[in-house]
Amino acid sequence: ITFESMGLNKALLQALDATGYTKPTPIQAKAIPDVMLGKDLLGIAQTGTGKTAAFALPILHRLAENRIAPKPRTTRCLILSPTRELASQIADSFKQYGQHLGFRVAVIFGGVKYGPQERALQQGLDILVAAPGRLLDHLQQKTLDLSSTEIFVLDEADQMLDLGFIKPIRQIVSRIPAKRQNLFFSATMPSEIGKLAGELLKDPVKVQV
Ligand code: AMP
Repeated sequence: ITFESMGLNKALLQALDATGYTKPTPIQAKAIPDVMLGKDLLGIAQTGTGKTAAFALPILHRLAENRIAPKPRTTRCLILSPTRELASQIADSFKQYGQHLGFRVAVIFGGVKYGPQERALQQGLDILVAAPGRLLDHLQQKTLDLSSTEIFVLDEADQMLDLGFIKPIRQIVSRIPAKRQNLFFSATMPSEIGKLAGELLKDPVKVQV
């Protein structure tokens, strides 16, 4: 299987060419076609497997293929990530793969001033990558609205558990429309993570690498 044969948007294929990816990694080959169709996904995979592109590419494809009806800059996709480093890397990946698509990508995490983040949120964005604690602060201060979010990604769920983020995650999810696509990634599946996955996912496709 190739990126071309998956039917990915031309602008994405161009960006992948420029990035130097010649073929999908195993998790990409297994996950991308189903995520493109709008299915929920449970991915059991470590960092280094290419899992970021496994969700970023089909998400960008879906947002690009359906951009007439929805309003632009309404946070159509939310990705939760446990740390600022990971959140920044994920945002960079979305910018790289989406370089020809014109979406606005923002990243939010704690330990820095609120002002610049509030301004970025006010300007509007299409894709938001965030660490849970600071995101919840913005929601509570009403500087962020997630009522148009169509796609939700929880990355590194087991790390979220270790960092005490399960309750904030449930609070954030309660503010996103129930009708949405959910993608859930974890390297391991302790029982609490299995429970959370069961609550969030509807008939998920399971991919383990
Ligand atoms: P990740 O598991 O998402 O952290 O990705 C690990 C590394 O693999 C990153 O540096 C990516 O740029 C790279 N990568 C992801 N997909 C591919 C691919 N299809 N071909 C070559 N490199 C890739």
